[in-house]
Order: sequence, then structure tokens, then C-alpha cells
Amino acid sequence: MLRIGFVGWRGMVGSVLMGRMIDEQDFQGFEPTFFTTSNVGGEGPDVGLDIPPLNDAYDISLLSSLDIIVTCQGGDYTKKVYPKIREVGWKGYWIDSASTLRMNDDSIIVLDPVNKNVIDAGLSSGIKAYVGGNCTVSLMLMALSGLFAEGIIEWISSMTYQAASGAGAKNMKELIAQIHVLGKASSALLDDPGSTAIAIDEVVTKELRSNSFPTTNFKAPLAGSVIPWIDSAMESGQTREEWKGFAETNKILQTKNPIPVDGVCVRVGAMRCHSQGLTIKLDRDMPLDELSEIIEKGNQWVKLVPNNMESTLKFLTPAAVNSTLTIPVGRLRKMLIGPEYITAFTVGDQLLWGAAEPIRRILNIIINYS
Ligand code: NAP
Repeated sequence: MLRIGFVGWRGMVGSVLMGRMIDEQDFQGFEPTFFTTSNVGGEGPDVGLDIPPLNDAYDISLLSSLDIIVTCQGGDYTKKVYPKIREVGWKGYWIDSASTLRMNDDSIIVLDPVNKNVIDAGLSSGIKAYVGGNCTVSLMLMALSGLFAEGIIEWISSMTYQAASGAGAKNMKELIAQIHVLGKASSALLDDPGSTAIAIDEVVTKELRSNSFPTTNFKAPLAGSVIPWIDSAMESGQTREEWKGFAETNKILQTKNPIPVDGVCVRVGAMRCHSQGLTIKLDRDMPLDELSEIIEKGNQWVKLVPNNMESTLKFLTPAAVNSTLTIPVGRLRKMLIGPEYITAFTVGDQLLWGAAEPIRRILNIIINYS
């Protein structure tokens, strides 16, 4: 029986992964071992099995006795442990949600509804490291997998509206703490039917600019504002998040002629769904109904949302998509710029398709392959 180790199972991505694996009854047919970096001997997750106390996530000898290791622990852990475990000659499969190994030649970025052919070729050629992609890139590819498969995209510009969860659990809490402060400060005015919006705005702006406003994690107000900077600076003038659009899209698809992907990545006050406004340059003029069909048939999770107000408000918002696997694509239309230009808006849960789900699915693919 395959022996599979889980590291980072209680973090944000890890706990969503555990939830999905329990929902899909994945915990069968293999022997799971759970690890910790902080609580050796403690209690593991409730996955409906008798499991022994938690093991030390730095125990190379135990780790290297396993067939597959799944880690959602983070990049520092991968940097520390992955070289050591390969050094002792471990030949098992390493499945990782961190970005550390993503761009290595001997790793595959996994998003099987989009790149199953790349994954299959990787498995046959003996690749042993499988890494989840950047959440924004994965969600864009899920939304447009039909157009990519048709090979008709010349370039894409993606303007993103990224949720707090992409920055981590503390940031999600900080967003709500910020909202709470604003709500408290304006509550008397809100209760007064005679108060004006301008008076409320004055109170809110004062709070947003005050030194006591909770911004330890975001470094700036997000509630009542946006932050047009995600991750570190690159020499190109992009942020690293923006740089990943081109680099990861083309690695995931293993394109022969790289497709340019670029845009501005912006943090907004959504909890766990990223949204993207897309400008797509096609290599030809095609009727919109044909394009709609191609997009909708891209994969079973894509749902085309009619370009009208009622459907958009009902189906094409983070509030509607949160905690679901659905990838709605809407606001689809030709642009005035020219007949080969289309625009679309898409939303996706960045903890599901953006993080845990590709990891859950590659684990099953590798189990079936082994
Ligand atoms: P996280 O929530 O910070 O969890 C990482 C680890 O922190 C846990 O496994 C746990 O390890 C430890 N930890 C310490 N205090 C904790 C607490 N109060 N609750 C839960 N865990 C606690 O990290 P994450 O956001 O899931 O990210 C994990 C990796 O996935 C990162 O490399 C990240 O870049 C990547 N990723 C994240 C996202 C995202 O949206 N957040 C998306 C795609 C990829 P011990 O149990 O060993 O103490």
C-alpha cells in the first residue's frame, strides 16, 4: 500500500485540501502519515481514520521512507527539506503548493483540466516534482481553457481584483478588522437617517488615514480602498505577481511559441475569490456565439454568464462564487478596438482552483499512475 505524507495540513491551503479530500472520500487505498513543524506528538486531523500522533516534518529519514509527500507548508519548508530529501536519494513524488520549485526544469506546474497532457508526459519521463500554480494564473487558465486549447489566443491582458486570502490567513482577518473599525466609527451616523454620505465619508477617510488603523499585514488600508501592488518588484517594472502571468501560463501549457500575458495585479477587499477583467487578442475574427461555445466547453467547471445585469449580479461576483468550484465567465463581448479583440470577466475561488484542488487532483493522478 502506498505511504503518503501530509505536511502543512492545518494551514489555510492545507485545511481546504483536507476538506476537499474528505468530501471526495479520497482517504482510502493508501496509508496517510501526518507531520507538523510545531507540535510533534500532537493530534492529527480528523479524516475518519485512526491516525498516529503527529510526526516531525524535519525527520528526513521518516520522510524518505514515504512514496509521496504532499506539502502545503510553504516555501521556507520546501527550501529547507526538499534538497535534503533528494540528497539522501529519495525517489518519491513531491507535491507542493509553494512556489519554490515551480520554475525548475524538473518540475511540472499542475492544473490537470488544462495541462493533463503535460502531466502525463512528465510522469512517463520520470518527473517527480509536481507543483500547484499561482492562483491568478490557474484561475485565468481554467476560465479560458477552451480558447487556449483552440490555439487562437495571440495575447492576453489581465487586470486582476485579488482577494485578501491570497496574502494569507492573517490578511483575511485584517481585512475584516479594518471593516469593523470603519463600521464602528460610522455607526452613529449610519443610525441617523438625516446623516449625509459626505459626513460618513469624512469619518471613514479619517480612520483610513489614522496611525491606529490596522494595517500591519497589508501595510495600507484595503477596506474602502484598493492596493495596486502584490508581491515584490521586478526589474521589468512589473510586480512578481504580474511576472508570473507570462512565465507560469507558458510553463503550464508548455507552449512552443510563448503567449504574452500581462496586466496590473490589484488587491481588493474580497475574501477568497480572485476576479479578473480580461482583454484577449485573438488571431482571427470569430463570431461571439462560436467563442462562447468554445469557452463554455473548455472544462466542466466553466459556466458562461449571459452578458446582462441580472445574471452578472447573481453569478459573476466573489460573493456568489466563494467556496465553490464554479468558474463563471461573463461580460463577454467584442471590443470597439477591433473585431479580433474580446473582453471578459471571470471569478474563481483562489483557495480551491487557485490552490488546493489542483493539489488534490494531482495526488489522485499520481496514486493511479503508481
Ligand atoms: P498558512 O495558513 O500560514 O499555513 C502554513 C503553516 O503554518 C501550517 O501548516 C502550520 O504548520 C503553521 N501554522 C502556524 N500557526 C497556525 C495557525 N494558527 N493555524 C494554522 N496553521 C498554522 O499557509 P497557507 O496560506 O496555507 O500557504 C501554504 C503554502 O501554499 C504557501 O507556500 C503559499 O504560498 C502557498 N499558496 C497559498 C495560497 C493562498 O491563497 N494562501 C495559494 C496558493 C499557494 P504546523 O502545523 O507545522 O505548525
